[in-house]
Amino acid sequence: KKVINQIAAGEVIQRPASVLKELLENSIDAKSKSIDIFIRDSGKTLIQLIDNGEGMSYNDARNSYQRYTTSKIKTNEDIFRINTKGFRGEALASIAFVSQLEIQTKNKENKIGIHILVEEGKIKEQIPINMLKGTRISVKNIFYKFPARRIFLKSSKIEFKHIINEFYKIILAHRDIIYRFYHNDKIIFFLKKTSLKERIKEIFIKNKKLFPILIKKNKIIIEGFISKPNSSIKKGNHFLFVNQRCINNILLHKKIIHSYEGLLKNIKTVSYFIFIYIDPILVNWNIHPTKKEVKLEEENLICNMIQQEIKNILCCQYK
Ligand code: ADP
Ligand code: MG
Repeated sequence: KKVINQIAAGEVIQRPASVLKELLENSIDAKSKSIDIFIRDSGKTLIQLIDNGEGMSYNDARNSYQRYTTSKIKTNEDIFRINTKGFRGEALASIAFVSQLEIQTKNKENKIGIHILVEEGKIKEQIPINMLKGTRISVKNIFYKFPARRIFLKSSKIEFKHIINEFYKIILAHRDIIYRFYHNDKIIFFLKKTSLKERIKEIFIKNKKLFPILIKKNKIIIEGFISKPNSSIKKGNHFLFVNQRCINNILLHKKIIHSYEGLLKNIKTVSYFIFIYIDPILVNWNIHPTKKEVKLEEENLICNMIQQEIKNILCCQYK
């Protein structure tokens, strides 16, 4: 049992940023409209989220950190129609396995919330607390029992970069939420609800031109923005989403970048923010526990659609 836990924890939780990603996804699944994030030491000592979502019942809270407990999948069919971020029930279990986990939560049925402290996978403390509806989760001292894994963490600067990158993926896809992000008590981001275009401008591309992309075909919708080719030396930002989830897809990335070929000396400076919406039945997220890789039924078709669209846009621009 312990070995299985360890393997799973290693796959889902590689570094503080993986914790942040999982906690953010849970807050979004709980329909939060406001999420406050508190990070200390690049997440090495504290990653805390406070949300105003649905909260948990006492029982759900007590079970939430057990493996394969998810409140999101109720029937076998649900597996094929996933529209929540989580569904494997592995994240909190993996986090509890490698850190000190504190959960405080209250749903709308309960007058009083519950506070639970989990260490080494077991409940160490359980007390009622006064709080508003929502959930506060604190993850302390990641890998404190695993010195070998602590050593493999990168410098604070690099771990912080990973943290910010996970944050970026979420704030691009989920823009109807208010976010406050603190690092070592200093506020780094205070983000209000906004459109995709404004979000890209406020964070990534301050005053360069963006080209909109919009394709609708065979029940597939592709939308987003690409940056104008430019002569800056900074590496571009590359974000690709399938049904609101950021993915890595080398094939698509290459096709997008190659659409610019011949127009630009340094195509590494190109930025893109592309959202693909496709029937969940055509997407398989169950390839890797972190869901960063995905199997798309119509990958080739989608690649070609995007490439054609980008070429059209650039062609109009440079005729
Ligand atoms: P999954 O997201 O795959 O269901 P997790 O391990 O991430 O599994 O979470 C386990 C369960 O804990 C969730 O199914 C949910 O019921 C509950 N949960 C976790 N975080 C929150 C939150 N912020 N608000 C409400 N419920 C939560
Ligand atoms: Mg989850």
